[in-house]
Amino acid sequence: MRRLNRNLKISIYVFFRGGLVKVYILTDLEGISYVVREEQTSPSSREYEEACLLLTREVNAAVEGALEGGATEILVNDLHGARGGFNLIPEELHEHARYVTGGPRTCRMAGIDESFNLAFMIGYHAMAGTQRAVLDHTMSTRVIVDAYINDRRVGEIGIDASILGYFNVPIVLVTGCRMAVEEAKSLLGNIESVVVKEGLSRNFAICLPPVKSRKLIREAAKRATQKVGEFKPFKVNPPITVRVKYSHPNYADVQARIPRVEREDPRTIVVRGEDLLDVMRILGWY
Ligand SMILES: [Zn+2]
Repeated sequence: MRRLNRNLKISIYVFFRGGLVKVYILTDLEGISYVVREEQTSPSSREYEEACLLLTREVNAAVEGALEGGATEILVNDLHGARGGFNLIPEELHEHARYVTGGPRTCRMAGIDESFNLAFMIGYHAMAGTQRAVLDHTMSTRVIVDAYINDRRVGEIGIDASILGYFNVPIVLVTGCRMAVEEAKSLLGNIESVVVKEGLSRNFAICLPPVKSRKLIREAAKRATQKVGEFKPFKVNPPITVRVKYSHPNYADVQARIPRVEREDPRTIVVRGEDLLDVMRILGWY
């Protein structure tokens, strides 16, 4: 009888656990449809307020699609650095998700754990130094020139995918400009994606109208969620080495004061470790 009870408990657990589809949505502003100029990404301008509305509506489209695809729980992380990670417009937010907002942050990836089944990157952008990529950068526009994880050149797509991969959560949808999507696919394989704009130069692009981008994002989010379990997380095997090349030695000087940060040359620092999160924490990226 005891054994039967135990088996029953396990089956009930498996049934409910099997029915849960938890989605973690990472958002940025530079890869949102119709966002092409630097002014749109910083709070001092009127264009920024409009860009936040475009962002919020694309995030809502992703939430809507995820729900249609069977998501039971959605956590959205507002990651664009402007205004301390407070870019989404509260009154516009979809009611069936929860939102990580504000800062300074004790952790960039708040709320993530192994219970999430999949993740989306909405409004992401290509790594620093990518030609024909809209608003390309890595973490900070004028500060970082290059970043490498275990000798592989990465931008925010690679950095954030590796952190979610640490928790065994695969990225299944990336939206942004064509170069951001190409970067994501070369790293993560044949995931779902939406190209919302084609960069002609860094601040110059051919864009889809936002209403069309939202429609495509909603459809892609639905497909991605329906494919739960089909994608592998992006795993980085230890030992971990993260190398960062800055645009000016001053930035490396500041970083080199942090314990466990090695100076490689005037502009370059390296952090090594066995645990990816530990290394990312030192760099302020987790
Ligand atoms: Zn950003």
